[in-house]
Amino acid sequence: MKKINAILAMTAASFMLFSCGGDKKNDTTTAPETQTEVETTTSEVTEGVQIELSGNDAMQFDKKEIKVPVGEKVTLILKHTGKMDKAVMGHNFVLLNKGTDMAAFAEAAAKAKDNDYIPTDDSTSVLAHTKTIGGGETTTVEFVVNEAGEYDFLCSFPAHYALMQGKLIAE
Ligand code: ZN
Repeated sequence: MKKINAILAMTAASFMLFSCGGDKKNDTTTAPETQTEVETTTSEVTEGVQIELSGNDAMQFDKKEIKVPVGEKVTLILKHTGKMDKAVMGHNFVLLNKGTDMAAFAEAAAKAKDNDYIPTDDSTSVLAHTKTIGGGETTTVEFVVNEAGEYDFLCSFPAHYALMQGKLIAE
């Protein structure tokens, strides 16, 4: 009788284990967050972090906040989803160093048309920037942020920064 009881107990225990495992499997396959995590991990292993930012003909970026990991290579892809020419609706991505006065920088940048709207006499304000592009174009910049914190980014085409600006958070 003792033996039979033991076998029954084991069977019950293994049945419980099996059903627990079954529940977990269902959880992972139905949760959409799990898939996103897997994709992020894969891209980090191969090429650092990739971020897409787009600007349109209405003078808007599609993101107001970008998060990047400190000390890792960031590949930022800027897409101009509009149709207007670079001369009238040019967009770029300029990442400013901490403590930079955005309004003052944008004013200086607006005068630097010959240098893609990046002031030539200012080497400390800009952490990274793309070239200026027009409708339908795409450009890429790679950079590493070595210090955690909040940084301003903007489009430095004349008068665009009023609408086209946001925060890059490195953590
Ligand atoms: Zn712009």
